[in-house]
This record gives sequence, C-alpha cells and structure tokens, in this order.
Amino acid sequence: MKKYYVCFFFFCLFFLCLSFPFVEAQGPLKEKSFVIDVGHGGVDPGTVVGSIYEKDINLRISKFLKKELEHLGASVLLIREGDYDLASPLAMYRKKSDFDHRISLINHSKANYFISIHLNYLEDSSYDGAQVFYSKVLDENKTIAEKVQAYLNQKLQTKRESKKISSSIYMYPKLKIPGVLVECGFLSNAKEREKLQDDAYLSLFAKYLAESFLTI
Ligand SMILES: [Zn+2]
Repeated sequence: MKKYYVCFFFFCLFFLCLSFPFVEAQGPLKEKSFVIDVGHGGVDPGTVVGSIYEKDINLRISKFLKKELEHLGASVLLIREGDYDLASPLAMYRKKSDFDHRISLINHSKANYFISIHLNYLEDSSYDGAQVFYSKVLDENKTIAEKVQAYLNQKLQTKRESKKISSSIYMYPKLKIPGVLVECGFLSNAKEREKLQDDAYLSLFAKYLAESFLTI
C-alpha cells in the first residue's frame, strides 16, 4: 500500500507540474512540443515473453525518444518515467483508471503531438518492423501516421503499412491533440526480439522516430 501512495504522490506532483520546461531550444523542432505516452507500467507489464516485459522496453525507447526529440529542439514530456501505472491507488477498475489519467494528461498537456509507445505481438512470428496506428478522431492523424511509417520503413528497410485504430479502443478516440500509436517492433519475432533488447538499436530506432517528425 505504501508504494501506491508514493506512486500516487509523484503522479499528482507530475500532474500539477504539467508544464513544458520552455528553455531556449534550437533546432528544426524548436517550436514543437510532444507528450510521450509510455505504454503499460507497474502491475500492467503489456506483452510478456519469458523474462522480457513490454513495459520495460517501452520505457527505454521513450527515454531515448525524449533525448532525440530534445536534440532536435522540441519540448518533451514523458507520461511515466519509472515502472508504475497511472491508476488511482484504490481504483476498482485499474486499467480504466490508468487510461483515464493518460487521456487527461495528454489532453491537458496541450502538446503539438502525442506519441504512444508500444510493442507488437502476433501468433505468426514472421512479421517484423515498426507499425504506426492512427485514430480517425482527427483528420491529420492519418497523414502523420503515413509519413512516420514511410520514414521508418525507409530507415529500417521494412514494408509495414500504417493502420487505423479500431474505434472500440477506449483511449484514442478521446485524445484531442494529434498523434500516433507506434508499435515499435514485434516481440513475437525472434530476431526482432533480440534487437529490442539492445540499447544501441533502441537508441537508433528512437532517432529515426524523432526524425520522422521532420517530414510532417
Ligand atoms: Zn502494449
């Protein structure tokens, strides 16, 4: 229980301090701000393969992505910076509470873009590569997804296509700023699973993902 209160305290602190550190940045994205929705966390590991937890890789990619976007001049907020979820401590429906707080943080951030970071998993292990998803709630999301996907395909030598998120998914139709969900690779593909555990690859992937926003 104590741990929950500590997490909740930091969550509240984060919420209250939700403003971008507007330092004098230089670079092609200096006018832009991003909120990075780091998938899963805490009791919610996301996809698990052996001892590999999606939530951990999502956080590692997100931290690299923050660094790369800042390097291009952008202001960046991470929705979580450690291994915890965003649910209220005594929430009866933990997953819904987690989503509700993410929605609130993203919408209140007033960032130019959100980027959700997740990993893919399919029964068919032949699939690999990053895939970009968009909600139709804002017209521009589709264009952003296509451009991010095209850049990632070019850099990673993959042929994935961007796809629409089902409107039955709880969170994305409620987001009021433009953005995309990036499934950064397939944990179901052995070769890609190896790469997703390598910080050198994750850092390079984050660099490409950040650069893809220069094409928008
Ligand atoms: Zn996920």
